[in-house]
Amino acid sequence: MSSQHPCITDGWFNEVNDKSFPGQAFSLKVNKVLYHEKSQFQDILIFESSDYGNVLVLDGIIQVSERDEFAYQEMISHVPLYTHENPKKILVIGGGDGGVLREVVKHSCVEEATLVEIDSRVIELSKKYLPGMACSFKHPKVRVKLCDGFQFLRDVAESGTKYDVIITDSSDPDGPAEAFFQMEYFELLYKALNDNGVVIAQASENVWLNLDYLKTLLHTARAVFPLAEYCSTMLPTYTSGQLGLITCCKNPKVNPTDPSRVPTEEEQTNMRYYNRGIHSAAFVLPTWAGKVLKP
Ligand code: SAM
Repeated sequence: MSSQHPCITDGWFNEVNDKSFPGQAFSLKVNKVLYHEKSQFQDILIFESSDYGNVLVLDGIIQVSERDEFAYQEMISHVPLYTHENPKKILVIGGGDGGVLREVVKHSCVEEATLVEIDSRVIELSKKYLPGMACSFKHPKVRVKLCDGFQFLRDVAESGTKYDVIITDSSDPDGPAEAFFQMEYFELLYKALNDNGVVIAQASENVWLNLDYLKTLLHTARAVFPLAEYCSTMLPTYTSGQLGLITCCKNPKVNPTDPSRVPTEEEQTNMRYYNRGIHSAAFVLPTWAGKVLKP
């Protein structure tokens, strides 16, 4: 394990990515590096920050911070799960930090949640350094498969297995998650869904920085699904503070902006970001972005 990391200079972690966000960068003050290794698949860094708790970084890109992760995990999980009227069988692709699983098992109707993660090291290290996220791996409804999510979906398509909700909680397109942003992936998702199924995918980018990219990604999703909409969540550790999610429905009558279910009182007390109002509001776009991203 090395405590040096090329993204850390003078006590600051710097996320610099000229392709996704040219001309700007995001920095967090580092208290100490907790762990660094190059796994078989990616560069893994975990550091304790001065104000955002422990932070997981893959290939130089922040994945989660303990302070604001709930804004991401709750929206990517509860938007599709409350859109679906009775989700029982859930598939999570990626998500090795465990935060999405933690949210999925809050739904008592869920009978089975399968997580497919390519890199076992992310799971092991999250259990040690991000215990508040990696708290549901032992839940009786959870199954974990350690393999490539894309290949897993190909096998699912052949076997005929179907899911009610599929959540792509992947890292960014540069690296092992590259295939998740291509047409074939959306086709496999479509095949793996039940007739009223809902898919949500981390769109990786935001309206301020990557509008053309998002337009292309939505165009790809709409070539496969009768309904694909962009929604977003707010959190400071993603560049520009806004992160997009693409929601696709197999049945065009299922409206992801108007959820079929609302949280019970007990479920709501366990949520810090998601509520009925923010579900619909997350799909409302500022005028200039809506002109580009709405169908
Ligand atoms: N919230 C995060 C974000 O968007 O910044 C994503 C978090 S989660 C840590 C992303 C996970 O996707 C990583 O653990 C990574 O190993 C996993 N992943 C990347 N490519 C994958 C693939 N082809 N199959 C399965 N998991 C993959």
